[in-house]
Amino acid sequence: MSKKIFPLPQQIVAQIAAGEVIERPVYAVKELIENSLDAGADSLIVTIEDSGLKKITVTDNGEGISKEDLLESFKPHTTSKLTSEEGLSHISTLGFRGEALASIAAVSSMTIASKTIGETAGVIVEVREGTVGKLSPIGMPVGTSITVQNLFGAVPARKKFLKSKRTEFRHIMDLMTQTALAYPQVHLQLSHNGKIIFDLPKTIDVLERVPLLLGNTTYANILPLSYEDSYVSISGFLTKPDSASRSSHKQFIFINQRRVVDRLILSAVKDAYGTLLESTAYPVCILFFSLPYEFVDVNVHPRKEEVRFADNQLINEAVYRTVKQTLAEHNLIFQPRNFKGWGLSDGEDKPKSWRVGSVDSYAGRLLKEKRVPWDIRTVAESVSGDLLQIHSLYLLSPTKFGMTIVDQHAAHERILYEQFLEEFQKQKKNRPQFILSKPVLIDMSFSEGELIKEHIPLLEQAGFTIEHFKANTFFVRAVPLLFQDRNIAELLSELLADLLQEKKPRDLDTVSRRMIAYLACRGAVKAGDRLTKKQAKDLLEKLAQTPNNATCPHGRPTKVAIDLQKLHKMFKRN
Ligand code: ADP
Ligand code: MG
Repeated sequence: MSKKIFPLPQQIVAQIAAGEVIERPVYAVKELIENSLDAGADSLIVTIEDSGLKKITVTDNGEGISKEDLLESFKPHTTSKLTSEEGLSHISTLGFRGEALASIAAVSSMTIASKTIGETAGVIVEVREGTVGKLSPIGMPVGTSITVQNLFGAVPARKKFLKSKRTEFRHIMDLMTQTALAYPQVHLQLSHNGKIIFDLPKTIDVLERVPLLLGNTTYANILPLSYEDSYVSISGFLTKPDSASRSSHKQFIFINQRRVVDRLILSAVKDAYGTLLESTAYPVCILFFSLPYEFVDVNVHPRKEEVRFADNQLINEAVYRTVKQTLAEHNLIFQPRNFKGWGLSDGEDKPKSWRVGSVDSYAGRLLKEKRVPWDIRTVAESVSGDLLQIHSLYLLSPTKFGMTIVDQHAAHERILYEQFLEEFQKQKKNRPQFILSKPVLIDMSFSEGELIKEHIPLLEQAGFTIEHFKANTFFVRAVPLLFQDRNIAELLSELLADLLQEKKPRDLDTVSRRMIAYLACRGAVKAGDRLTKKQAKDLLEKLAQTPNNATCPHGRPTKVAIDLQKLHKMFKRN
């Protein structure tokens, strides 16, 4: 095979966005996988040791790199994928900057072995901390195998910024999940420290991969979607609203098979779900967009994780309409929940659960005993003046210096949070558990499963008893007493979503506080709940007596004050 890798002309180099930075192991894996896919491989074997820090090997059966090209491949700005300036405006490959192998080689020891179809033997070369070894022949099948060892060995500063090894490996699993969804026709194998994590045979139907990658519950609630016009075609899946997620980790947008993060598309999806979803929920979506290469600029993000469209509006409108229509076409009857609502529930069962006495649960008993929490549901019609609820959301009241506006949900959340926290601290010593009469089997996505395993000791300290069953499924045998009437799967998934975002080291206190924030949020009156004057007044009084009352447990303000000065100014009174 003849030579085909050449340095990019200087002028194109200048146009290319900032260099790819290999900041963590997953970025190296991503670049290697992308190269294999660009080489037309339909089988990728990814072997990881020590979360990628010790060793990463990606072996593919793609077209290979010729002997003439091998030494070029890891020089900076050398590529076979882009030869002219016009090329930049319609990129069809995942890579195009010619930087990845050079960047990886700069921070590791790298070995490249490759064989093209026309050659009788392959060639292998080692690059150790910038020093290029000798090219030697090697017997191997057509394809490429790149091994990256001792990543960041010579750059301890970068190592310092890495998260725990488990976190780094979880990122690699997330990447593999995305790749497995975008390329169902590619055989993918991932192993870690000698253990095969998954081995996915080729398939023509991406759905076959969903149960393993995203869990059976997601699979069971899937709604297929498709759309096509002359500009864009969209295919993929949503799920029924009640299997929406507590985090964004089940949202996948692929543009011409490239995984990207696109807030506008995601918000169009969320908008289309509208009131079918709580504001804090993330709809599950796996959306594949296919549109002409010249309508997408992929050269906008250092790691190519974002793209720009020639026409954003067209895309977003298409998404909004398609999602709405898909939801309208399906029977979205909600699954019955296995927990009894308390706090203000909405829906038809309102009259029943309205009375405190009917809530037969630990929380209900606390309510009855008036220990915890203050009860918003006592309906009393003693009207006091000067307090106004608007849009079933804000409470307006005059103060000595002007007026205040209170967000009823945020305020109630803070009140409940502080009360639950107090109760929880009291119980902390003996940490009462509630043994479930039947263990609950929960099934998680791959990365949630890893996160649970990582946190089992902490969750146990908090009062859970959780056992790994098999693959991504777990048995929950006991929960903290305070949570006995909750939907366990939902509670855990919300907790994990929060922990995933947590930057600080996690300890029991963080976990407990997260659970309590969750409980408070679920118990609190919602935006949209009508309050009587008495309830609204009680809420404000209680808020005033609550510690940390300026914000809700998630940090949103509970209250905004507008002083008279400001009002006078608005009306040009002074
Ligand atoms: P880019 O992918 O942007 O071209 P890279 O530095 O990632 O830049 O790779 C440089 C070149 O090496 C590629 O253009 C390609 O020709 C070659 N190459 C890298 N990995 C592979 C592979 N797995 N199979 C075939 N060719 C490869
Ligand atoms: Mg590349």
